Amino acid sequence: MARVAFIGLGNMGGGMAANQAKAARDVVCYDLQAAAVEKAVAAGCSAASSVAEAVTGAEAVITMLPAGPHVRQVYAEQVFPHAAKGALLIDCSTIDVDSARAVAAEARAKGFSFADAPVSGGTAAADGGTLAFMVGCDEADFAAVEAILQPMSRATIRAGDHGTGQAAKICNNMVLGATMIAVCEAFALAEKLGLEPDRFFEIASKSSGQCWSLTSYCPWPGQVPAAPSNRNYEGGFATAMMLKDLKLAQDAAAKAGAAAPLGAQAEGLYALFERLGGGSKDFSAILEMFRGRAP
Ligand code: NAD
Repeated sequence: MARVAFIGLGNMGGGMAANQAKAARDVVCYDLQAAAVEKAVAAGCSAASSVAEAVTGAEAVITMLPAGPHVRQVYAEQVFPHAAKGALLIDCSTIDVDSARAVAAEARAKGFSFADAPVSGGTAAADGGTLAFMVGCDEADFAAVEAILQPMSRATIRAGDHGTGQAAKICNNMVLGATMIAVCEAFALAEKLGLEPDRFFEIASKSSGQCWSLTSYCPWPGQVPAAPSNRNYEGGFATAMMLKDLKLAQDAAAKAGAAAPLGAQAEGLYALFERLGGGSKDFSAILEMFRGRAP
């Protein structure tokens, strides 16, 4: 039975670790929060008392942590000194490209295989084992990475070398953030012009305004049953998370000398919505701001 260490059992990591256990893998897990570890144990994982203990003897290590500084610290202080020689290290967190490349370089220098493998899909996909993984790794390592990710995945795509998984993630979410704002602005304008929102939905979803933000995740309630707009924008993908990804995209654009003015506008608008109190709401709740309503 393959032994897998799983570090970071939060909203996403909890379900992902459970799916590793369901696939009959020997999953040894750790999180700073005892309650998260208990939940993972109930789902079939075994508990370690530290990252160091979890990674000792594991063939693969999966991390799902909040941001770049957490990933750099956990790998430098706990994973590299204690992981088995030749272990496959996979970071699924969404972090900055520079941190991903720095951790990858250190991993390679110490004789480990490393992949940055951020995900698309929220907590429902994490629980259901239907995440999409965007992978930056050496070509020779991809088959092994894909095999480890398989119980958590509906699609695993190699983006290129180290760091390109994170690049794919922030570019994708920049499109998502900007298109959601465009759809919300359009609904708010349609309302002001006396156009029924459900008529606008029906027309735009069959016209050139059609996009994922409209037809799979509609911000106006009542159009797409699974969308968070039907649950008072609870759950889903928090505005604060979207803001984090848009900031990562802007930082990366500034460093690369790329122009991303729409991404910058989207970042500013989500920052404003967060200041108005919408940080914990699903990012599609920004519709309320365009309608002149409190989140
Ligand atoms: P979360 O805050 O719920 O979980 C992170 C977990 O990491 C927490 O349980 C925390 O205790 C643990 N942790 C932090 N430092 C640690 C350490 N040193 N050792 C062990 N555990 C530690 O966050 P999340 O929603 O699960 O997101 C995780 C990552 O996935 C983030 O990078 C996020 O951007 C990305 N992501 C989230 C979503 C989503 O919908 N929530 C979707 C796609 C990607």
